[in-house]
Amino acid sequence: MSVGLVWFKRDLRLRDHAALAQAAQCERAFGLFIIEPAWLESFECDPRHVDFLLRCLAPLQAALWQRGLPLLVRMGEAVQVLESLRRQWGVTHLFSHEETGPAWSYARDISVGRWSRLQDVQWQEWPQTGVVRRLRSRDGWAARWTRRMEAPQVAIPSGFGTPPGMQPERLPTLAELGLPTPRVQAAAGEAVAWDSLRAFLGGGGRHYRRGLSSPLTAPDACSRLSAHLAFGTLSMRSVHQATELAIEHSADRDLAYGLRGFASRLRWHCHFMQKLEDQPDIEWRNVARSLDGLRPGDGAAWGQEAQARFDAWCAGRTGYPMVDACMRQLCATGWLNFRMRAMLVSFAAYHLWLHWRAPGLFLARQFLDFEPGIHWSQMQMQSGTTGINTLRIYSPAKQARDHDPLGEYVRRWVPEYGSCAYPDPIVDEKSALAQAKEALYGQRRSSSARAEADAIQDRHGSRKSGLPATAGRRSRQKAPDAGQGVLF
Ligand SMILES: Cc1cc2nc3c(=O)[nH]c(=O)nc-3n(C[C@H](O)[C@H](O)[C@H](O)COP(=O)(O)OP(=O)(O)OC[C@H]3O[C@@H](n4cnc5c(N)ncnc54)[C@H](O)[C@@H]3O)c2cc1C
Repeated sequence: MSVGLVWFKRDLRLRDHAALAQAAQCERAFGLFIIEPAWLESFECDPRHVDFLLRCLAPLQAALWQRGLPLLVRMGEAVQVLESLRRQWGVTHLFSHEETGPAWSYARDISVGRWSRLQDVQWQEWPQTGVVRRLRSRDGWAARWTRRMEAPQVAIPSGFGTPPGMQPERLPTLAELGLPTPRVQAAAGEAVAWDSLRAFLGGGGRHYRRGLSSPLTAPDACSRLSAHLAFGTLSMRSVHQATELAIEHSADRDLAYGLRGFASRLRWHCHFMQKLEDQPDIEWRNVARSLDGLRPGDGAAWGQEAQARFDAWCAGRTGYPMVDACMRQLCATGWLNFRMRAMLVSFAAYHLWLHWRAPGLFLARQFLDFEPGIHWSQMQMQSGTTGINTLRIYSPAKQARDHDPLGEYVRRWVPEYGSCAYPDPIVDEKSALAQAKEALYGQRRSSSARAEADAIQDRHGSRKSGLPATAGRRSRQKAPDAGQGVLF
């Protein structure tokens, strides 16, 4: 008898779910979500992620049960959980989506692979984004992305063979997991994700390009789909196809224009994830190894002074009101628009001269949409450690002038600004930036750094971004706008 187990991870949906469809072919099938201690204990995990996950699982469990598929939820190390279910229910097949995750999930997948071979359980995985496993070359990647995204979606199975006597298992509460309830709870689940997508494609996307850069307009102008994509309540293919359809049928030129800008970002999503897939150590190591050791916190612990700068940045008390406002919004709500994320990182990297790893872990906990491949690639890009991108240093004052000219946003998040309760600037911008530029540009001019840049461009660089292949040629080109199209 074939007994299929659907292992849900970052694919918490019914629609376009290849693993689910395959399980329907088995005589018996059930679903599983494993709450892994390695995840709960990781530096990137925050109660807001666990809360969102549980609120995605609840409606998914109900929808699956309507079709006869019980979803079990177990706490524990993956191999142990899988093995105990194999023994109890005679599992013959394991079905799941590929994951491009942090080091702990990569190590876990290797153990699960070993276990499945040893126990003769057939483990089949499917891609669910444009990320390609064991990619040999970036050439042709974009065409491959398009082919994958335009392939037909997988139909929802109508029913499953339920193992006799098996029932869905009660989900743990946050309190049972020893976690506090977050102050803000973003709406979660597949139905909510589809409502958000429809609202955006049906008109919400009209102001996308104009509104995405200012923290005042971005919360409404952007799609706000990132957490849904990160938890897989929507498949990338569904979003892509629905977007292309909306563009094709839209009689509203502003909307179609906005949606085209949005559509290109869906490619970026996978483009950035591919880097982590190809080079898992970009999570903790500079892409450009020639920059190793340049900033405090790279490899060795940093001193008290750097710690104080880091603490002030995390607390939103740097004395730079735009930086502090953004950090406070992010910590309170779990979301911030792209440009302001980039400014926060640029400030940590250049003004405060901190290595990106600790700031990246802190931000990972704040971003509800934490997606390791995008996150670590962006952390490195905005910190100038990719070796191939123009250094992009954001002036907080200029960002405030451009995107919050009346000071409305700063007043909302930093009400004490202007009073003696607000700190003085933690660093002098002019001298901090002069030192940062001297250190980075000096290093980049070395011949070893230039040779390394060519290799990095070849391995990771976008073939469509217009970025030239070498550092020498790059310096003569105009940098693309950060809000519009910076890729490495
Ligand atoms: C330092 C830093 C860290 C980031 N970390 C993450 C992260 O962990 N998870 C994450 O989803 N995004 C991350 N981003 C990218 C971007 O800021 C968010 O995707 C976006 O703000 C999410 O809001 P939205 O869904 O409304 O995006 P929209 O602007 O509506 O875009 C739609 C989707 O396109 C993708 N996308 C948009 N911008 C980018 C981008 N620059 N790079 C890659 N994909 C993009 C996302 O999937 C997003 O949901 C990071 C950016 C920076 C600068």
